[in-house]
Amino acid sequence: MWAVALGVLGAIVGSFLATIAIRWPQERSVVHGRSACDGCGRTLSAAELVPLLSWAAARGRCRACGARIDALHPAIEAGCAAVGVAAGLAAPGPAALAGAGLGWLLLVLAVMDARDFWLPDPLVAALALVAAAGAWVAPPDMTERAIGGVGGFALLWLIAAAYRRLRGREGLGGGDPKLFGAIGLALGWRMLPAVLLVAGLAGLGWVAVQRVRGRALAADDALPLGTLLAIAAYPAWLLMIGMRP
Ligand SMILES: [Zn+2]
Repeated sequence: MWAVALGVLGAIVGSFLATIAIRWPQERSVVHGRSACDGCGRTLSAAELVPLLSWAAARGRCRACGARIDALHPAIEAGCAAVGVAAGLAAPGPAALAGAGLGWLLLVLAVMDARDFWLPDPLVAALALVAAAGAWVAPPDMTERAIGGVGGFALLWLIAAAYRRLRGREGLGGGDPKLFGAIGLALGWRMLPAVLLVAGLAGLGWVAVQRVRGRALAADDALPLGTLLAIAAYPAWLLMIGMRP
């Protein structure tokens, strides 16, 4: 029940989050949702705004102008649906809703950091709020979360400061310490080393894939650390909540 409900809710939330991820970096209004075609500006009907189904029915194109609908729309909708289903399976009950909220925000932050190297403060703040609220419905307790929040932020902030001092340029995005702090609030400090390790391994894996594809990376190539941290954090939550006594 929880898995199905959160899967459907995830597709709807994903529809809104996809609009944010696509339009916010272009400084376009996100308040009214995806109410108009990105190609011709035609107002979309309710039937054209059903998550996933509308996109599939229209074969990914606007019915009036034929403009391709950004594939990020159905991708984020499907991703958020999967996040909701996973949360419902791992922890039925209110904890699932809290976890799904975490996962949806982590997903949109991962996408935005990968595409635009941007972790918008309001989204990170929303993640921190959902994370703190999670203390009412599931472990860890507020003390562990608070230590995780402060410790996660402080660790990446110090690494960024040390890098700036040694190399004379920015090594981390300004949003990365805030995101890691919010992840610490969500998971508690005990999970942070594992999240950092998995994010690092994912980063190395990505570099290896680029090598195999014949793209050498320069020393100043940037990897979206926020994306790696967000991708590592949600499975960590699923594991933690699934294994609790
Ligand atoms: Zn159109």
